[in-house]
Amino acid sequence: MTLPEIEAEFAALGEPKYRAKQVFEWLGRGVRDFEGMSNLPKALREKLRENYRLYAPKVLSKQVSQIDGTIKYLWELYDGNAVETVVMSYQHGNTVCVSCQVGCRQGCAFCASTIGGLVRSLNASEILDEVLFSQLDSGKKISNIVLMGIGEPLDNFDQVMRFLELVNDPMGMNIGMRHISLSTCGIIERFDDLADRDLQLTLSVSLHAPDDETRSRLMPANRGRGVDKLMEACKRYYERTGRRISFEYAMIDGVNDTEYHARLLAKRAKSVGAHVNLIPLNHVEEREFRPSTAGHMKAFIKILEDENVNVTVRRRLGGDVDASCGQLRRKMQKNL
Ligand code: SAH
Repeated sequence: MTLPEIEAEFAALGEPKYRAKQVFEWLGRGVRDFEGMSNLPKALREKLRENYRLYAPKVLSKQVSQIDGTIKYLWELYDGNAVETVVMSYQHGNTVCVSCQVGCRQGCAFCASTIGGLVRSLNASEILDEVLFSQLDSGKKISNIVLMGIGEPLDNFDQVMRFLELVNDPMGMNIGMRHISLSTCGIIERFDDLADRDLQLTLSVSLHAPDDETRSRLMPANRGRGVDKLMEACKRYYERTGRRISFEYAMIDGVNDTEYHARLLAKRAKSVGAHVNLIPLNHVEEREFRPSTAGHMKAFIKILEDENVNVTVRRRLGGDVDASCGQLRRKMQKNL
């Protein structure tokens, strides 16, 4: 709950307003039960326990990369479901990658998160808990958030917006919108709703192919929508918000890494002023796809650079801890 919501509840309970603030502060510190709210009268703690539910996620597994210190958590939610969160350390601070759904219904052909379909969406407080408890458990102050874990944020729009409001609260974790990226497979029907919120976050679009044939093969979300419509939506978003969009592009050997793809990608990126972020594909056990060779990547990057496209290659972190999302949850399911 937001502070005004808790205040409204407390008004209805006949409790003074400042108590609401105390509770909000306790929640922000990651208190695990109402008993722990030690500056509240016992009777009030009792009343809260009877009327409300407070749950802190449990660490089901925690893997720390020997290579770069990346931490991968698997959390148990209140109903026994599990989601993954990754904490990555960069020079400029610590970034947390959060999941927003248990599973995913988008069906991308290279992705581990979607293999078992969608189980359910997370609520705002569960997403917030991923950030809060990752920070508390790791002892690393989180300064950046990427919504790039399991699930499709624009398929859980209302709860993701609530999460953003909560995590942005100056009395809460106080993480600025400019330090948050939201990644989508291209649910364009929601782009205007997102622009309406006028948030200063970065919208990342998982493009992965600049043409309909390749993209529809890789990403069912492209079928019935198409790359042209996606580009229109991106352009409109950029014009309305003034925020540059970032294209994510996982390089897959022999699938989307040819000269043809590079040239068309350059054209697409320039048409909407997008930045291109290349990611060497993470091989997923259940999937046939392989990462592009270093030679192909180099040639691909050169074409983009020659076309003056703003392009970066994502550094690979946590390679030894199944850090690309969906993999750890899959492994746990198999072992159960
Ligand atoms: N549903 C959202 C966010 C979650 S996925 C989206 O589609 O953007 C975060 C990013 O990881 C997406 O760009 C996704 O396409 C990419 N991804 C998924 N599986 C991958 C893999 N095996 N290798 C590289 N990137 C992958």
